[in-house]
Amino acid sequence: MSFLKEIQRRRTFGIISHPDAGKTTLTEKLLLFGGAIQEAGAVKSNKIKKGATSDFMEIERQRGISVATSVLAFIYKDKKINILDTPGHKDFAEDTFRTLTAVDSVIVVIDVAKGVEEQTEKLVEVCRMRKIPIIVFINKMDREGKDAFDLMDEVEQKLGLSVTPLSFPIGMGYDFKGIYNIYEKKINLYSGDNKQTVSKGVEFTDITTPELDKIIGAKSAETLREELEIVHEVYPDFDKDEYLKGNLQPVFFGSALNNFGVKELLDCFIEIAPSPQPKMSEERLVDSKEETLTGFVFKIHANMDPNHRNRIAFVKIVSGMFKRNAPYLHVRQGKKLKFSSPNAFFAEKKEIVEESYPGDIVGLPDTGHFKIGDTLTEGEQLNFKGIPSFSPEHFRYVNNADPLKAKQLFKGLDQLMDEGVAQLFTLDINGRKVVGTVGALQFEVIQYRLEHEYGAKCSYENVQVHKACWVEPENPKSEEFKEFKRVKQRYLATDKQGQLVFLADSAFSIQMTQQKYPTVKLHFTSEF
Ligand code: GDP
Repeated sequence: MSFLKEIQRRRTFGIISHPDAGKTTLTEKLLLFGGAIQEAGAVKSNKIKKGATSDFMEIERQRGISVATSVLAFIYKDKKINILDTPGHKDFAEDTFRTLTAVDSVIVVIDVAKGVEEQTEKLVEVCRMRKIPIIVFINKMDREGKDAFDLMDEVEQKLGLSVTPLSFPIGMGYDFKGIYNIYEKKINLYSGDNKQTVSKGVEFTDITTPELDKIIGAKSAETLREELEIVHEVYPDFDKDEYLKGNLQPVFFGSALNNFGVKELLDCFIEIAPSPQPKMSEERLVDSKEETLTGFVFKIHANMDPNHRNRIAFVKIVSGMFKRNAPYLHVRQGKKLKFSSPNAFFAEKKEIVEESYPGDIVGLPDTGHFKIGDTLTEGEQLNFKGIPSFSPEHFRYVNNADPLKAKQLFKGLDQLMDEGVAQLFTLDINGRKVVGTVGALQFEVIQYRLEHEYGAKCSYENVQVHKACWVEPENPKSEEFKEFKRVKQRYLATDKQGQLVFLADSAFSIQMTQQKYPTVKLHFTSEF
């Protein structure tokens, strides 16, 4: 197959949702269509379950699973589909944000009864900002839930999207009869007793036909006709270009658990979803069709084996063909590296590959060369953009609890930060280290992993920090900036990239500082 064909047949995307909406179930059903797995229950959930086991054991378990499910690839109707795993748990939101820099589109799963939930809002906001094409799947139609129109209103309002349904439910819950596929003009009947099977569609180009009454009953037929009329009046016609530009989001309804409406979703997805997109670097826009290799690291995963501090760096290929054993430039280090055992992912297995194409993810075994955001090229000085750090939510001083193991502690902290587990700030005034995380769970992760992988011990101490603000003075030589630095000395720190950060102790202090030093800009992400 030609290089261009290989690119065009790839679809790399992420499924995002609030925990429990049905992401794992949907992923599994998609894999079943691809013949990548044989039975339901094969995809393991990477959810953090609170309960019987202690949290860090749960994290270890989840870490094992999440290596396996980081990328799930399969072939469906000759399309190579790469699903990138996005943790739903809010403490791992940062991982999900980073993964979203490597997808070309997303599917958002929403629970019909719960509607738009908190985590969905946050994740969709990031997609919207980046203009990532989004398809919405409203799940659990076999249960009583919200009215379809109300739900679409909610999606538009809370998520700031502009939707148009491509399928429409006939009833719901106990009364759920099926869906009308607006895209293909077909009716798919749901039979609750016929679970786990894909229903056959009945062609219905003309919904005014009395045949419809016979099949779903006069009352349902009447309602469906009315509702489709409203759909026609209220929502714009589907327009693929608008979807690809991130301006219009098609909606599907179904039940992942019963494998209902999933095939419609997938069939439409492979047709409309984008193949690998161009990506902006600091230097220029890189097109996927360029023949020289470029790619970037969006995720680093430590292996489970504590005796081998091996990690896997996940690289999204942006352009060109990745070849085993070819020399590639690690731009940040200015070094050429060869990879003798790059992994590709297929369903839940990973295997060594000879070559990969734009849109694919390769896993590179790494002993500490890579950081999230690193770029690989064939020699060009290129740095891909778009993996910002956000201000952490929780902050603690980190202390060395074993004086003999200081070296191990610093090495461990350094590597864990490169993996993106948390962010480290060094206070300018006394060199003390402050760890900032998205969720409270990460403090346990760090402590546990330092001990088990690096033989180092740390303890934490409370520190009053509300938010980390990256500082950008309009004029670094101004009197105002000098005064800011003098007055705020106690609160200034340096992040791992050497950028100046103001660790504000309250929202009030941020506000006051902004008023008092208007030429010193405070940013809540590291990229501005
Ligand atoms: P995730 O947290 O988003 O990955 O959610 P899961 O896929 O693990 O699903 C959460 C729960 O919802 C599980 O108990 C599923 O069996 C259930 N579930 C998923 N899809 C459906 C559906 O279509 N109908 C019903 N009734 N339950 C579902």
